[in-house]
Parts: sequence; C-alpha cells; structure tokens
Amino acid sequence: METNTLKDALVRRGRDIIILWSNKPKAFSRGYKVKTIRLEEARIEIGPGSEGMRVTFPVTTETGSYELWFESSDTQLVADRCDAAVVAMLSAAMVQGYDVIQSEMPISEELYYNLTYHVIPQLRLGGNRAKELKIDAPRTRATFEASGVGTGMSLGIDSLATYAEYADPVDSPDYRITHFTYFRVGAHHGRDVELGRSSLSNQELYEGQLNRAREFCREYGYKLLVLDSNLGGFLTRAFEKISFRRSHTYRNVAAALMLQNVLGTYFYSSAYNLDLFELSLRADSAAYEKWLLPHLGTGSIRFLNSNRAWSRLEKTKIVSQIPASYRYLTVCLLGVKNCGKCFKCRKTLMALDALGDDVLDRYASSFDLDEYRTTSRDEWFGSIYSRMAVPGFVGDDMKDIYRVAQQNHPSLVPPIDVEWPAEAWEVARVSATNASLRVEPTRAAVEIMQFRRSQLVEVLGSKSGWFKVRRDGVVG
Ligand SMILES: [Zn+2]
Repeated sequence: METNTLKDALVRRGRDIIILWSNKPKAFSRGYKVKTIRLEEARIEIGPGSEGMRVTFPVTTETGSYELWFESSDTQLVADRCDAAVVAMLSAAMVQGYDVIQSEMPISEELYYNLTYHVIPQLRLGGNRAKELKIDAPRTRATFEASGVGTGMSLGIDSLATYAEYADPVDSPDYRITHFTYFRVGAHHGRDVELGRSSLSNQELYEGQLNRAREFCREYGYKLLVLDSNLGGFLTRAFEKISFRRSHTYRNVAAALMLQNVLGTYFYSSAYNLDLFELSLRADSAAYEKWLLPHLGTGSIRFLNSNRAWSRLEKTKIVSQIPASYRYLTVCLLGVKNCGKCFKCRKTLMALDALGDDVLDRYASSFDLDEYRTTSRDEWFGSIYSRMAVPGFVGDDMKDIYRVAQQNHPSLVPPIDVEWPAEAWEVARVSATNASLRVEPTRAAVEIMQFRRSQLVEVLGSKSGWFKVRRDGVVG
C-alpha cells in the first residue's frame, strides 16, 4: 500500500499515524499527530409549551471540549445533520492546520461534495498552514422542500439595498424575499476606532437592534426569523481568536443552514466585487465570497450574493429612494439609534448629503440633521482630501462621495483655486495616454479619475502648469 493511501485511510478514521519510512527524506517524521475535530450527535431541547428550540453540537478540538448551540423561538431548526457546525468551523479549522472533521452526524451530500471538491482545495491556496481538510461523516441525500427566500435585516445600507432589490423583483418573481433573518453570530462589537467603546453592552446592542428589526418587519408584513447562538464565543475558545472580518461569511451561512428547512434561497450582501477578489484565509472573507457562497449550497438551500456590482455609494442611493428606509436606516457602530459621529454614521451622512440636500432631509427622523449641518458637515467635507488618501475601502468610499458631491451638491466640496479662469465652454482633447484627474495640482495628490487619450474635457482654468478641468460633472 502506498504511504499516502495508508495515511489517508488513517486520517479518515481519525487515528494518529506514524510514518515508518519515506522516499522523501524531508517528509520523514515520527509520531505525526493527526489534528482532529470531533462532532457528536446534537442535543435537542424544546422550550416550555413547545415554544422555542435549541440545538447543541458537542465539539472536541485539540484545545478541549465545547458546545456550539443555535436557538430560535420563531421556528423549528434543522437538527438531523452537521452542515451548520462544519461550515461554522471551516475557516478556523483550515487556518489552524486541522486534518479532519469527524462527525457522528450526517452531512448533506451536496455540501460534502462542494466542500471536498471545490471549497477546501481552493482555500488551501489561500492559507499558509492549511492542509487538505477531510470531512469524515455519514452523508444524507434527504433534502428539505424549502421555498422561503431570506436575507439578513440589520436595517443598515446592505440589508435595505437587498430589500430594495428583492422586495418586488418584477422580472424574477421567484427571488422575491419572503423572510428576514436576524442572527447573533458575533457581530455586535459596539466599537469605533476614534470614539472607542459603546456605552451599551453587547446584549443591549443586540436586543435594541433586534427590536428595531422586529418593528420594521411588523410594519412591512415580513416574517422575522431570529437565531441566537454562542458561535462567536465558541470560535474564540475552541480555536485561536478568529476575527469576525475573516469569518463573517461562514458564520452567517452556518446560521442560515440551521434554517434550510424553511429557506431555499439566502441572499448575502457583499462589500466586495470581483475586481477586488482576493483568495486568502487571512483576508476579509467578503474578498472571495462571490466564489464561496454558491459552493455552500446543500441541495435544500442555495446562497447568492445580492446587490449586483453596486458600490457602497450606489447602494446608499438606491436605499435613499425607498421610503421604508427613512425612519429605519440604522448604520451606527455604537448605538441602537444613529449617534451621528462614528465612522459609519459619518460615511452615511456624507453620502446622503452628497446625493443632494433633499436626499439628506428625508432622514430627519433617523439622524440629528441640525447637529450634523451645524457642527460636523464643514469639518468632514473640509478634510475630505486627506480621508480620500486613506488606502483601501475608507479612501475609495470617500472618493465616491467626493465625485457624487461634485455632481449633485458641489457647494459641499472645498473649491479648487486657479490662477486664471478659462473662458466659458473651452473644451480640450486629452493628448497624453495616462492623464489623471487629481484633487490638487501636485503629483502626490489623490487621483479621482483617469482619462483615455483623446477624451474631451471642459477646461476651467490653470495653476502651476496644471489644468483645472471638468468631465462628467467631476472637477479636478
Ligand atoms: Zn454612529
């Protein structure tokens, strides 16, 4: 028998193996320890008066024995398979170099195939220590006849943009949302980089935001499925600290898998499009989830990204056109109501303002607009150039806001001075192959647009050998 085949067989049975000889001297090792995660049969508890249900998965990792539970008082949960537990632990197990997840409970046949033939082999390319994680579990071909279409409802821009997209998809009625979900999977961190911790506890944030989501669903006639879980704490204890940023896709999909008896389709809004694709277990899982999500289906439920290729600002614009958002939009990192100061409140207020004065006015009951206009607006837009220069998402979002503000609300952005103004309507053709539009007349200034050779621009003036021009409403 070849060593590899023997090793595979032993790994599959969760045995420790000792390689006695090898034709590769460097691969020689004694007492190779197979890193195993063991999953036992789930325990089901039904609440008093058949209200509510909790499913607990006993899990043993290299660091000890733990329990992972999911609970809902709204609906029956899936308790006959280990799909949710496996997906919940998948990225952590790979980052930690585990060899096998061994389960007494069955896994859905299609999910087993997807993970083994697609997800794990590709994820290995994006993780330094990741091995070819094996899933050793009985498999089930039984599927649920679930027709529900669900998505998370946190009342933020992503949720409301998904609502706008799929509340009534005239062309594709099969994708119409029927349920909203609210999961506790570790997202209620309540922290802003500059302002620090929220004065509310995680529990208060969770309950406060949940109550708002309930109000929204009551008002607009949707069923809300709430799923509570210790998933966040479980991952932290059972594995080395696994950041929310690197694992949010797995956490939310795991929660939705507990509802695959109700939901046949689940939408997940993504911050990244494929032009920013990055396959790495150390990256934000959103950077590769457009590929990942369709590979986490089970035959009962499929996972899809919502919001097409919309940028954050495009989502904000779409949300600003639906009246349901005016009272409910809640983006705050720190509170149940928008604080108007944290990073997310700032970005949203600036975006709404950039879209037009009348757009911002629609949100008078969800933000303190007087305070924003008197104390924050000038300072935030006055420093927009330095915010645009921040690498990554922060800078990109600010560049979008800057461009839209120039088109829709130009008085917001600081003026660009010129030494001599051009005559009205002077038009020029770009002669260079790599011309850029920058916010200031220096090479170090932030670039906001690129020109192709022979594009037409409107010339507004010049300074220090640079031209001030306008194209598509954007000035630089
Ligand atoms: Zn806030």
